[in-house]
Amino acid sequence: MNSLLNKAIAQERLTPAEGLEILKNAPWTDVVEAADTVRKAKLPGNRVGYTAFRIVNYTNVCEVTCSFCSFCRSAHSPEAYVLSLDEIRQKTLEAKAKGADQIFLQGGVNKEIPLSYYTDVLKMLTQELGVKVRGFSPVELVRIAEFNGITLDELLDIFKDAGLSSVPGAGAEILSDRMRQILSPKKLPAQQWCDTLAACHKKGLPGSANIVIGSAETAEEVIEHLEYVRKTQDIAGGFKSFVVWTFQPQTDKFPIRHVRGDEYLKLLALSRLYLDNVPHIEVSLLGMGLSLGELGLHAGADDINSIVIEENVLQNHGLTTIEQAEAFIKNAGFTPYRRSLNFD
Ligand code: SF4
Repeated sequence: MNSLLNKAIAQERLTPAEGLEILKNAPWTDVVEAADTVRKAKLPGNRVGYTAFRIVNYTNVCEVTCSFCSFCRSAHSPEAYVLSLDEIRQKTLEAKAKGADQIFLQGGVNKEIPLSYYTDVLKMLTQELGVKVRGFSPVELVRIAEFNGITLDELLDIFKDAGLSSVPGAGAEILSDRMRQILSPKKLPAQQWCDTLAACHKKGLPGSANIVIGSAETAEEVIEHLEYVRKTQDIAGGFKSFVVWTFQPQTDKFPIRHVRGDEYLKLLALSRLYLDNVPHIEVSLLGMGLSLGELGLHAGADDINSIVIEENVLQNHGLTTIEQAEAFIKNAGFTPYRRSLNFD
């Protein structure tokens, strides 16, 4: 086992079989120590990044109906909504007043929304309000292109011209087609998720990638996921960061299990070792809480993602002000820096 971890510390690429061996059999503390060593070698300076954005869920109408999602509604539901431009403007102004300079646009897959809505929103956010915009999951992009009879590349050109800066790696969950059948059979298959993001990256729309654990995934599927991300990064190079999330009990329609702190930290650390081509690893404070998040910064992570500027969060384990984010990072033993959307 030590030879595998020493190989990773020497920054030699791990094979999928070696990654699986570490995940299954290495003591989690050894993996954490190796990841901390690699993070310090690759990112000298003891710095930890944070950012400030607000998520704007522009519609809750979604035809994809993932089993774990409590947010989506059918188009005929009395709770269905599409935010107006004025509502999005108001939310953005509130976020700017709290120090945010980025908006994260996320919606359901809603075929009733015209293409002009998206471009109007993007132009309003970037040209009128001067914020950077990350937005749209791969399945949203693919379906919006289909609804409008254009190619994905044409859609990306239109959105980029309207102001889009970045596309998040949302909707990955577990990149294994067996798990996608269990969790979200109408979402994109794993390879199409990767191909869609590679197309975004090649257009100059970089973003992040993530994994969500705590369902019925196997260790083999976790490594399969990391391998999909690493291969896509080799091709297009636009994943600026990788984050490990955990499923939250939003519905009772999918298998969910408790993720122990040692399991979380081990996978976070393995992500640093395995994803040798992804520069930044983010720890999820919202999912795992501040104490474990602090340990995550000593387990290969170098970023805490964003402070929370939301009215609705699943668990209020996050940090809500820039002052809190900086104090948290300093207390963990690091130097905070506020990063841009794309880690420029
Ligand atoms: S695609 Fe997104 S909004 Fe739609 S059901 Fe799945 S998680 Fe919910």
